[in-house]
Amino acid sequence: MSNDKHSTETILASGLGFMDEQHLGVIPGIFPSTTYERSADNSYEHGKIYTRDHNPNYEQPEQVLAALEKGHSAMLFSSGMSAATCVFMALKPGDHAVVPKVIYWSFRNWLLNFATDWGIETTFVDNGDLDALRAAIRPGQTKLLWIETPANPTWQIEDIGAWAEIAHSIGARLAVDNTIATPLLCNPITLGADIVMHSATKYLNGHSDVLAGALICKTDDQHWQKMRSIRAAGGAVLGPFEAWLLMRGMRTLAVRVKQASANALAFAQAMEQLPQVAEVLYPGLVSFKGHKLAAKQMHGGFGGMLSIRIKGGENAAIKVAANLQLIKRATSLGGVESLVEHRASVEGPDTPCPVDLLRISIGIEHVDDLIADMQRALET
Ligand SMILES: *Cc1c(COP(=O)(O)O)cnc(C)c1O
Repeated sequence: MSNDKHSTETILASGLGFMDEQHLGVIPGIFPSTTYERSADNSYEHGKIYTRDHNPNYEQPEQVLAALEKGHSAMLFSSGMSAATCVFMALKPGDHAVVPKVIYWSFRNWLLNFATDWGIETTFVDNGDLDALRAAIRPGQTKLLWIETPANPTWQIEDIGAWAEIAHSIGARLAVDNTIATPLLCNPITLGADIVMHSATKYLNGHSDVLAGALICKTDDQHWQKMRSIRAAGGAVLGPFEAWLLMRGMRTLAVRVKQASANALAFAQAMEQLPQVAEVLYPGLVSFKGHKLAAKQMHGGFGGMLSIRIKGGENAAIKVAANLQLIKRATSLGGVESLVEHRASVEGPDTPCPVDLLRISIGIEHVDDLIADMQRALET
């Protein structure tokens, strides 16, 4: 295999040099076998026994992800949610976690409902409020801090280094959902995080055709081994076809994220000029509250996600979404095509999301076409 000290772009494009060794094909094959033969001496020659935790198609994306995030190792999961929930399932009843209020909505819901029922309590603090985090700490009981930055769908920025320092001062771990920034723009482990999580469904795969998740650890410790055994026992693993497709998508991550970031910045700047737009939420804008912190801990761009708040409130926002032609009305993000969503409609009555907010996942189309589509929708 080639050297994982290469730059991110090279690790992605070369896929760390994995090949179809049998035929010398430059792309590895797909290995659907669920089970592996024992040798006559009763051992497993290649260490693979059964596909619930062993499949050759996991190896390349896991090694690439570990190299990209500068971690010790990585694990693929069948979804981002199965990766995120695994981190909490490895805690014990009575353990306590602290999490900002605005994070990926389905995960906040899971913490409020399932995790609480299983004896793991979470305190939610205002995003960006380190004093509230310090006040929420329960010495001896707080075992995990979890952040998402930029945070969906308002894109508030958390200070990864500051959260890590607080976590480590009480013997807790910091986990970071890095889905939105991607490993291209931010590497939480280098800033002090212990665990990185991705919904690989989004930018990593990038083509809106695979559901997948991943965890990456800084060190191979007891918590990581417990998560490994939870995955092996529960079977929330990716199928070999999906793992192969994910790797195919990841090969172009660098060019996709750079283009989406450049488009998003130009789109956000254009939106700031429009009279129908009350506010543009994008970490790349100098006017954005967390811009300085984002510029400090992200590199090479601010990502492809932004939100706009529409003058005239909820109905006006829904109407603007209805008027769009190029930008599709759909949930999810991180694909090559641009998507828009009225988040409050999805999140329901107790959402912290403003009702006049449209979330936009900017793709890699020509940005002039995206701006023209939105301008026309706002004027209709
Ligand atoms: C989509 C998403 C998730 C959940 O991932 P799935 O792959 O849909 O299970 C978690 N966090 C963020 C930030 C996401 O965008």
